[in-house]
Amino acid sequence: MRQIWNAANLSSVLGLVGALCAGCRIERGPDGLILAHGYRWSFPDGGAFTVGNVVFFRPRTRITPLLLAHEARHATQWAWCLGLPFLPLYGLAVAWSLLRTGDTASRNLFERGAGLQAGGYAERPVRWPSRGRRFPVDREGPTAPSGPSGGHLA
Ligand SMILES: [Zn+2]
Repeated sequence: MRQIWNAANLSSVLGLVGALCAGCRIERGPDGLILAHGYRWSFPDGGAFTVGNVVFFRPRTRITPLLLAHEARHATQWAWCLGLPFLPLYGLAVAWSLLRTGDTASRNLFERGAGLQAGGYAERPVRWPSRGRRFPVDREGPTAPSGPSGGHLA
């Protein structure tokens, strides 16, 4: 279904044209994916990325079932976004993640949906907005922790 949908919305066609222009070796992958090996252009960075049902790999990327599953989820996201709208939406998700964590993936809903660890990302903590600013501490009030698990000051 995803394969047909991404062919119809032309995103897989875009991926195939990109793979041919970049001189990639193309082969059939699992679950209707098309694997494009040997991608060497500088953009985008990272060991692998997906356009429609076409998964691009850089020459030294180790292709594992976990990474393939991550990229397959991106192919599904392309289908849900009806093809090309994926690109600006993904760009917004990157900007949001950069703003909140300083990294492109940690709060990027597409990368989180595809699985951060499977994609080789380490999750960075949120730095904006910080909790301290949203919930100002009452410095006049009692400081003793309450409840059975409130002993973090000890
Ligand atoms: Zn990813």
